[in-house]
Amino acid sequence: MKLIMIKYAELTTKKDNRNYFINTLVKNIESALFEFDPIIEKDYFRMFVKVDESVLDECVLRLTKVFGIHEVTIASFIEDKSIDSICSKAKNLICSGVSFKVETNRSDKTYQINSMDVSRTVGGYLLKNVSNLKVDVHSPEVHLNIEIRKEGVYLYKNGLKGSGGYPTGTLGKAVLMLSGGIDSVVAGYLTMKRGVKLDFLYFESLPHTSLEARKKVVELASVLKKYGNDGKLYVVPFTKIQESIYRDLDNQYMITIMRRMMYRIAEKFAKKNKSLAIVNGESIGQVASQTLTSIRVVNDVTNYPIIRPLASFDKLEIMDIARKIGSYDISILPYEDCCTIFVPTHPVINPNIEHVYSEEKKFDFSLIDEAIDNIFSVDLEKDEKDDYL
Ligand code: ATP
Ligand code: MG
Repeated sequence: MKLIMIKYAELTTKKDNRNYFINTLVKNIESALFEFDPIIEKDYFRMFVKVDESVLDECVLRLTKVFGIHEVTIASFIEDKSIDSICSKAKNLICSGVSFKVETNRSDKTYQINSMDVSRTVGGYLLKNVSNLKVDVHSPEVHLNIEIRKEGVYLYKNGLKGSGGYPTGTLGKAVLMLSGGIDSVVAGYLTMKRGVKLDFLYFESLPHTSLEARKKVVELASVLKKYGNDGKLYVVPFTKIQESIYRDLDNQYMITIMRRMMYRIAEKFAKKNKSLAIVNGESIGQVASQTLTSIRVVNDVTNYPIIRPLASFDKLEIMDIARKIGSYDISILPYEDCCTIFVPTHPVINPNIEHVYSEEKKFDFSLIDEAIDNIFSVDLEKDEKDDYL
């Protein structure tokens, strides 16, 4: 078995909830590595995950995607705590030609050599026995850590950066308004990073939008699944509402009013679904419907918490995250969402709320209840072939 050491992310700041956070992290790790039968040991400061050597790399990769982890490091363990045994293990871990620093931590205070002396002795041994090494105490290429504990000695080098944040699920559940575009999936990722579990809500206007567009959304939801979210995707049949707005209401206000309808549905759905907030990918000024005036007019239909993680992000910053999390290539596939298909030539930038109220008088609100009654869920597991369609 190989040993992976995990350092917790922001858990240190959550003293009261610490055990809850750690236990949730254990569950999330178990589910991320479920087919590899990991053995997990946790303590207050870190966690050790033991897995078979043949799956070590895959496990490390998956762990870097689990929220609540600051660093993932492959570690070695020796029961023999003698300085000779530490030196020879250290030698196995260092390649020639690098700059290095040894740092020792001795939680076993009965150990007869103090930390400084262990570091010095091991460092000296390495310089003598590995070619072309150089000590660099300020910015070494290899940081060799030695931890002397009751049960034995752990040795490890620089780890891989984890995803940070809080373990998914520790901060409740929200609904993500998920479109096939670039932004909403990134907004979902950032919200999950803060410990929030997500269900997904997609507004669909068949036949004006295609089933390929839905497939894109399924794939985007599956990207978030890789980061430890096991939420469901729900589809709102939005065609009648959109057609009615398009046919009967002021064309310039089409998007504003359509978004108010989306928010109304999202709020009712969130309440039914026991979600504490609604998340979306809105970003200030990105399009006409996301000016502050528009956001205010759209937000007017609900007092539910609306989380907009991308509110102050530039599009280029959003695109960078999308590439990093692996959603970008899916998002740029060419199928259109319901928002883009009915775009008016001159959408209003500063909508007037009184005008919205008077336009909405022409709208048949029973369509909202009808849409909610007809929401259905889509199986994310069946995204291989088109059999979910
Ligand atoms: P994205 O913003 O994800 O690139 P988009 O550009 O199509 O997609 P916008 O018009 O910018 O979407 O809408 C802002 C936000 O509204 C989206 O980020 C998403 O959260 C939500 N939204 C838009 N269209 C839909 C839809 N068809 N289903 C669910 N949510 C949607
Ligand atoms: Mg957008």
